[in-house]
Amino acid sequence: MDLTWSDTEEAFRAEARAWLEEALAAWRERHGGRILSGDTAEGFAQHLDWERTLAEAGWAVVSWPAEHGGRDATRWQWLVFEEEYYRAGAPARITQNGIFLLAPTVFEFGTPEQQAHVLPRMARGDDLWCQGWSEPDAGSDLASLKSRARRDDERGGWVLDGQKTWTTRGAFCTHLFGLFRTDPDSERHRGLTYLMVPLDLEGITVRGFGRLDGDEGFAEVFLDDAFVPDDAIPGGVVLGGVGAGWSVAMATTSSERGLTLRSPGRFTATADRLVALCREQEARLGPDPRRRDRVVQGWMEAEAYRLQTLQTVTDDAEGRPAGAASSLVKLWWSELDVALHETAMDLLGPDAELEGAWSKGWQFSLSGPIYAGTNEIQRNIAAERVLGLPRK
Ligand SMILES: Cc1cc2nc3c(=O)[nH]c(=O)nc-3n(C[C@H](O)[C@H](O)[C@H](O)COP(=O)(O)OP(=O)(O)OC[C@H]3O[C@@H](n4cnc5c(N)ncnc54)[C@H](O)[C@@H]3O)c2cc1C
Repeated sequence: MDLTWSDTEEAFRAEARAWLEEALAAWRERHGGRILSGDTAEGFAQHLDWERTLAEAGWAVVSWPAEHGGRDATRWQWLVFEEEYYRAGAPARITQNGIFLLAPTVFEFGTPEQQAHVLPRMARGDDLWCQGWSEPDAGSDLASLKSRARRDDERGGWVLDGQKTWTTRGAFCTHLFGLFRTDPDSERHRGLTYLMVPLDLEGITVRGFGRLDGDEGFAEVFLDDAFVPDDAIPGGVVLGGVGAGWSVAMATTSSERGLTLRSPGRFTATADRLVALCREQEARLGPDPRRRDRVVQGWMEAEAYRLQTLQTVTDDAEGRPAGAASSLVKLWWSELDVALHETAMDLLGPDAELEGAWSKGWQFSLSGPIYAGTNEIQRNIAAERVLGLPRK
C-alpha cells in the first residue's frame, strides 16, 4: 500500500491550508477574538458566520458534487481537508448533523427534486438540521419510539404527535429529520417513516436545555397536532418511502458511527497538541518516562486510527462499505478521544482546572461513548453481526 499523497492532493492541501489560515484569522477578528462554544445561542451565530464563509469559498462540503455546493473533491481530498481543518484549530461544524448524517442519506434515498432543494441550502447554512431520533423512552432501543405521523390526505400532509429529546443544537436549528410511526398498528422496526420537518410549524415547541458543562446545546421537541404539508420540502417531506424508515435510518447510522462524523484529522490534531503539551512541561519540569509513555501511546493510537481510516476509504471507494463494522470504528474513535483527553488531564494535574480547552474537550469526550449509539450497543452489534456470536 502506497501511503504517499499525490501531487494533486498536496496541491489541494496547500490551497486548503492557505485559505484556512487567512479565513480563520479574519473570522476571529470579526468577532473581536472572542469565539464562544457553538452550543450557545451567541456562539452558534458566530459559528454560522463561519459556516457561510466556508460555503462562499466552496469549502463547506468539499466532497459533494459542485451542483449541490461542493467542489467534487475525492474522499482522499476530503481527508486531507479534514487534517488541515483540525490542524488549523478551526471550529466544530454546527452543520454537522445535516452535512454528515442527513446528507449521505439524501444522496442515497432522496429524489432528484429533494436533493436539488435540501443539499445546496444545507451547504450554505440556509437550513440548519438537527437529528430527531431519541425520545424519552427510546434511546438505545430506538425501535420502541412512539412519535406518530398521521396521514391527512385532505390537506396533503402529515399530522405529527409525540416528543423527541437530546436533539443536539435543536434550539438553534430550522429543521429536524426524524423517525415517526406512520402505521399505528405496527411494532418495533416496522411501520416507521423518515420525515424532514421544518421546526417553525404551528404545534411544534422547541425547548432548549443545558448540558453538564453549562452550554444549552440540547433541545426537547414537542409535537402536538403539528401539520407538515407535503410540499414543505420540494419533492416531499418523506425520505425513502412511507414505511421504509428503519432501513433509511440505518444508512444514517452507518454514517454517524463510521467515518463521516469522526475523520482522523480530529484525533491526530489532539494527539499533536498532547505532544506539544508534553514538550512544554518537559521544558519546565524535565523528562518523565511515565508521562512520555502515555503521550507516545496516545499519539500511536491516533496514527493507527488514521491508517485504518485510509483502509476504510479504500474499501468504500472499491465498493465495500463498512456496514456493521462501522460499530468498530465508533468504538475506536470514541475511546481514543477519551484516552487522549484523560492523558492531558493527567499531565496537567490540578492545572487542568485552569486550562479551559483541555478540560472542556475532556468533558465532551466523555459523551462520545454515549451518542451515535452507546458503546455497549456497539459491542453487541460487533459481537453478533461482525463476529457472528449468538444473540443473548
Ligand atoms: C452529546 C450527545 C448528543 C446527542 N445528540 C443527539 C441528537 O442530536 N439526536 C438524537 O436523537 N439523540 C441524540 N443523543 C442521544 C443518544 O443517541 C442517546 O443518549 C443514546 O442513544 C442512548 O440512549 P439513552 O440515553 O436513552 O440511554 P439508554 O438507552 O437508556 O441506555 C442506558 C444505559 O444502558 C445501556 N444499554 C441499554 N440497552 C442495552 C443493551 N441492549 N445491551 C447492553 N447495554 C444496554 C446503554 O448502553 C447505556 O449505558 C445525544 C446524546 C449525547 C450524549
